[in-house]
Formats: sequence, structure tokens, C-alpha cells
Amino acid sequence: MPDFKMKLLQAREARWAFFSAQKQSFITFNLNIPGYPKTSPQIKTIFERVAAELGIFLELVFELKNYHRGQDEAGLYLYIPCPYPDLKLVKNILDEFERTHPSGRLLDIDVYNRQLERVSNNRPKKCFLCEKQAQICIRNKNHTLSEVRATCEKQLASCLNQDLLAQKAYLALIKEASVDPKPGLVTRKSHHCHPDMDFFLLVKSALALRPGFAQMAKAENLAQIREVGLQMEQAMYQATNGINTHKGLIFLMGIAVCAVKYPDVSQAIKNICKNITQELQPNLKTHGAQIYQKYGFAGARGEAENGMPLVLQTGFKALTKYQKHLKNDDDVYTAVLTEIIARNNDTNLLYRGGLEKLKTVQKMALNIINQGFWSKAARLKYQELCTYCQKHNLSCGGAADMLALTIFFDKINLH
Ligand SMILES: [Zn+2]
Repeated sequence: MPDFKMKLLQAREARWAFFSAQKQSFITFNLNIPGYPKTSPQIKTIFERVAAELGIFLELVFELKNYHRGQDEAGLYLYIPCPYPDLKLVKNILDEFERTHPSGRLLDIDVYNRQLERVSNNRPKKCFLCEKQAQICIRNKNHTLSEVRATCEKQLASCLNQDLLAQKAYLALIKEASVDPKPGLVTRKSHHCHPDMDFFLLVKSALALRPGFAQMAKAENLAQIREVGLQMEQAMYQATNGINTHKGLIFLMGIAVCAVKYPDVSQAIKNICKNITQELQPNLKTHGAQIYQKYGFAGARGEAENGMPLVLQTGFKALTKYQKHLKNDDDVYTAVLTEIIARNNDTNLLYRGGLEKLKTVQKMALNIINQGFWSKAARLKYQELCTYCQKHNLSCGGAADMLALTIFFDKINLH
């Protein structure tokens, strides 16, 4: 046996001994690098990037916080203890992470239970070079090692230029969903007013939108944004079995990722969305058009046409104010959400509850702000708002979209 093969075997055995000594279920991540050596400066850079992203992702989705980072002859790897009880779900979500990731075929993420058995959903991996199953190509020796290695290196190089905006965009959607509690909205812990959805459905939907956001970032005008948007809607419905989880956000976040390449983002959004509310014609049967005719509120279109003031003014102002005083992310984001709710003529809410309920919710939100976050009185009133929305089946969906956008712009340091 050649020397390097011996070293690989020994490294893998030592890894395995370490994993089994921990006596808990876990996730491993490494890059799928065919041939030898298993690491190089380029491989290392890609590994660090994906490891950082995976860290944020796993903390947001499954609240996992401990990582062990290792390196040996078999390459770089991450060991993540996974106390989350439903390992099938973890595997299922991580498969979507792999599938939608721009470096997808390079990633090798596995989930193991306490008995060190690999949790599998029997979905075969694709080959590096062709559309066949990797197993088949390996068994039949369809490609030479040098061919596979060359393709792998080409993929590594292209991954270095991959779009970080799309990453920030889909993570912002998940971050917004994870904030708890929220009035009438899906959170990690509840989904009363949206019985057809839960947090993990939103995670899958956000992942499915990732490739589309990368394309949106390259768009130049509204027509292109809409063309990509339609494909993204299809990807969303496929991931959610036909449930509309993020339709409004595909449009708004698409405009956002497209507009950030310009120096004045708000002005760029105004330019892209000029006269867009004129589309809300009386003959249209959509919710948006009906509400515009009845109340004159233009919803997402109006917000976009005006350069997203609820995000770039209200959201940012609130973020500056609360990040100074509140340490906990959930507290900061619920405070920002409340400031947006107080000022937003939320068409989702209007559609479900009518004008009177909208005014009541806005007034309740304003009251909370006046109490001062996070005094005991404000916390109580915030809880009252959540209960009120739950009782009347109201959802501040429009405000939640604005919160997701505020988080996105903050994470790309526009703020
Ligand atoms: Zn192949």
C-alpha cells in the first residue's frame, strides 16, 4: 500500500476513535476532495468559508453552538455535537443546504446518531463530472482520477468568486423566522396563525431561494428581477409542496440584492421600481389590487416605489437605537419589528382583519414603544399584542418582510 494511502487510513481511524469517544449524536463536515493531497491554501479558504456559514446556519436553525475543528492527513473537518432530537429532520435540512449551496458537490455533510450509525435519507450523491450518481461512476471507473481532480480544482476556483449577497439574503430570511415571540407570525416555537407552515418549512423555502438570489444580484432592471422571481417562485413551491412562504420577499429581497451594487441604495430601488404602484389596476383580482382600490395602501409595491423607507429609515433607526441597549438578538429584532408594525399599513393584516384591526395593532405597537423596550410593562404589552393577533388570526406578514430586509442590509454593513 502506498505511503499516503496508509496515512489516510490511519487519519480516518483516529478521527473515528475521537468521534466514538464523545458518545453523542453529531454532524461532520468536510470537503469532498478526490485524490491527494487533501488540502491546499485554496481548499483551506473554501473550507473556512463554508464552515463559517454552516456554523451560523446550524445555530440559527437547530441552536447548535459547539464545534470542534480538526485537520489531519485526510483533510480539514468539522465535528459538531448535535443534541437536537430529530436527526432525520437535521439530515433532511442539511441535504437541502448541500443541494442549494454553490459549492454543493464539494460538500460532504453527514449526521450520525449516538450508536455511530449514519442517518441517511437514501438520496444518492451526484458525480463531480456528470449527472449520474457518484456511486455508479466510482464503481464503473467512468472518469480517471486526474479528470475528477481537475474538475474539482476548477469548481474550487469558481467557488472563490461565489456570491456572498445570496448567502446573506437567505440567512436573513431564516434569522427573521427564528425570532421569537412575534405577533401572529411563524417562529421557532409557534405558528398559530399559519397552521400550514412551520419554522422548518420556512428554512427549506429560504434555502431553495438561495440560487435565485445569486442571479438577482446580477440583474439590471425590474424585468430581469421578475423573470428570475418567477423561477424562484417555482423553486419555493417545490420546496414547500405548494405553500406560499416567501412570495412577497422574493420580490422585495430580489430588489434589495440587485440594488446594493449602486452607491445610493434607496435611490436605486426608487429607479428600479418607478411607477410600479400603477400596476394595481381596479380590474385586477389580486389581494394587493383589491386592497389598493379599497384603502389606497400599496403594500410591497408602494414600499419599493418609495425606496423602502420602512427598512432604510424606520428599520435602521430602530436598529441603531436598540442595538445600543439590548444585548440579545431576539430582543433587538422584536423591538425593531414593533417599530415597523406601528408605522406599516400592513396589507396582510388588512386583508385578514380589516382597517379597524390594523389601527388597533398599530396603536398597541406604539404603546409598547412608548413604554420603552424592554421594561417589564413593555414586555407585558408585547405579549398582549402577540395574544391579540393570535386570537383574531392576524398576521403582521408585511412587517416581518421589512424586518428580514433590515437584517439583510445590516448584515452586509449597509447600515
Ligand atoms: Zn460521472
